[in-house]
Amino acid sequence: MEVRRAIDVAGIVQGVGFRPYVFRLATERGLAGYITNTAAGVSIEVQGARAAVDDFVVRLPQEAPPLARITGVAVRELPCNGDAEFRIVASRRGEAVRTLISPDVALCAGCLRELFDPADRRFRYPFINCTNCGPRFTITRNIPYDRPFTSMAVFPMCPACRAEYEDPRDRRFHAQPNACWTCGPQVALWDREGNAIFCEDPIREAIARLHAGAIVAVKGLGGFHLAADATNHAAVELLRERKRRVEKPFAVMAPNLETIARFCEIDDAGRALLTSVQRPIVLLPRKPGTPVAEAVAPFNRDLGVFLPYTPLHHLLLRDTGFLALVMTSANLGEEPIVIDNREAVVRLHELADCLLVHDRDILLRCDDSVVRPVAGAPRVLRRSRGYVPMPVFLAEEVPPILAVGGELKNTICLTKGKHAFLSQHVGDLENLESYKFFEEAAGHLQKILEIEPETVAYDLHPDYFSTRWALGVSGRKLIGVQHHHAHIASCMAENGLVGRVIGFAFDGTGYGTDGRIWGGEVLLADFAGFERAAHLDYVPLPGSAAAVREPWRMAVACLHHHFGRAFLGFDLAFLRERDPRSVETVLRMVERGVNSPLTSSCGRLFDAVAALIGLRSAVNYEAQAAIELEMLIGDCADRASYPLALEERDGVLVIGSLPLFEALLRDLKERVSPGAISRRFHMALVDVMGEVARRLRARTGLDRVCLSGGTFQNAFLLRHALEALAADGFRVFTHSAVPAGDGGLSLGQALVAAHQ
Ligand SMILES: [Zn+2]
Ligand SMILES: [Zn+2]
Repeated sequence: MEVRRAIDVAGIVQGVGFRPYVFRLATERGLAGYITNTAAGVSIEVQGARAAVDDFVVRLPQEAPPLARITGVAVRELPCNGDAEFRIVASRRGEAVRTLISPDVALCAGCLRELFDPADRRFRYPFINCTNCGPRFTITRNIPYDRPFTSMAVFPMCPACRAEYEDPRDRRFHAQPNACWTCGPQVALWDREGNAIFCEDPIREAIARLHAGAIVAVKGLGGFHLAADATNHAAVELLRERKRRVEKPFAVMAPNLETIARFCEIDDAGRALLTSVQRPIVLLPRKPGTPVAEAVAPFNRDLGVFLPYTPLHHLLLRDTGFLALVMTSANLGEEPIVIDNREAVVRLHELADCLLVHDRDILLRCDDSVVRPVAGAPRVLRRSRGYVPMPVFLAEEVPPILAVGGELKNTICLTKGKHAFLSQHVGDLENLESYKFFEEAAGHLQKILEIEPETVAYDLHPDYFSTRWALGVSGRKLIGVQHHHAHIASCMAENGLVGRVIGFAFDGTGYGTDGRIWGGEVLLADFAGFERAAHLDYVPLPGSAAAVREPWRMAVACLHHHFGRAFLGFDLAFLRERDPRSVETVLRMVERGVNSPLTSSCGRLFDAVAALIGLRSAVNYEAQAAIELEMLIGDCADRASYPLALEERDGVLVIGSLPLFEALLRDLKERVSPGAISRRFHMALVDVMGEVARRLRARTGLDRVCLSGGTFQNAFLLRHALEALAADGFRVFTHSAVPAGDGGLSLGQALVAAHQ
């Protein structure tokens, strides 16, 4: 007996090869009917023998294309009609608009095979792609996601490409960026003035120049990279000098997993991340004594590595004699990544020796994502290319909200229904270029997602650029959200939690409701509000921003806080190395309370310890001292821990560091190894977290713990805190898909605002 059913599929099912997949699934079973794109996803009707229709409905979600993300399937019975075949029907006008755009996707295995097949018509074509791979988000000007609304609009397809595009049996059916040597974009090599360099093969010429030690700007998916031979010490040093980047690590791209295994430890989690379609930069432990230049990641045990994700990358790296190439965002300092050819000539003039460009415009800048596997799960440190604009799926519907994030590592977030869309990494809003990018990203995201926010959520810090921007918005409800509350809400949202939790929010800086600088906070929180249940004790931050750049100031502030001027008589190496006048200046600031706001920051406690043990007195990038303190632990098997004091003041637990510093000073005197000291310090935090969590559970009955804030990007701390709290019977949640640091802040802001 024949039956007919309507099946509505919601989620990311457009631009990912879903219609040809359904066409094949239906025709293989001899079913008639049709499929069409709709506002929510796709609408399917199938008609045929009951068993075949049943089988179709079961298989549909199970065998969906790799890039599809199905969020809902609704099935209805219909009366049969005279349909005799299965058709792909054009989208109904105005309906295809409100669907999800796919992130950019790394080159698929099929296209990779063709790229290096001399018999293929796209042999060595640097823009080969199909419905399973290629650019999406970064070439989209507007919705719907159709070629005329992408930067491929200026490349009319040749007959051969057109035939593939129109054939539902073809892997390139409706692949919007479909192109070939005849009709598509082309590469060119330019000198730093923007003049074309005459050569037969620009890619081979670029490879030759890289081998000779040149720095080549390479146009990628979401922006330009600066490339250099990672084994060439002089080239890497030159790149650092030109980029004015002192010690912050560079990422390297290697041809394949086997090559990466020569200089990094790869476990299963690392391998899965490296080969995922998102192709993020993965932080992995480096092996000692490899040919990768030390200057790639000085003072760092980890190396950021990734695999080629565009055909151009594969052409640069396959069998070309490179162990790895440094591939770092092309920009000066912390400015946004360069995307436009002419802009590249102007802004990269002093940085690159030549430019490998192409004529497919990048419409949206999007940096590489950064991920580190910790405790069996990926931890996204920067969520950008490959992940954006894939939404975070929420447990509950929320109204349309724009959340503008923080100041550093900024992202913004837009919500719609049960979706929260985080923007790509915008960066540090301290410079004008980033600020422009912030406005651009906010505008573009609203346009392609068709969201008109009723509410704008922002951080309470009055000096954040994002806050000032939000306060200038008129006609919308404005809601300020406390920084650490937003961190915990972000963790709850990512994990689909509702109701109250015990939230540990540890980071460097966040504006507190008492006007002080918070950062070592334990909150009893839900989306609607929070109670500050515990925090690290306040110490002065002498010189504010200067204290962040110069951790030795925090060491002086902490020692003075606990021991008064008596500490000047202690035998401390870091003090002997300092000009006594600079120490005196800091002491006067602290004693007189001049430019010394009080802080409960956990990041600053790391700084103080790092400076005190002589590890680092000044930093060149954010959190450098804390990162190097973690690295110091290495394989140290010491089991001890420092004590921290826990004292109740006005119903709030205050965590005091006096016993910690006393024990640490004793260890310094007894010449305990720096690795052991660092480990004891980390374990002190783990222990006090357990103690605080137990007390709060006894008081409230809550047993769900959320860990958020940049400090939990510390792998050692995260691993041990997760273990210890779980062993204590807590259900522990932290971040995986969204950064624990300020890159995830906007998600939490949106959720808090939704509940006001
Ligand atoms: Zn492909
Ligand atoms: Zn073509």
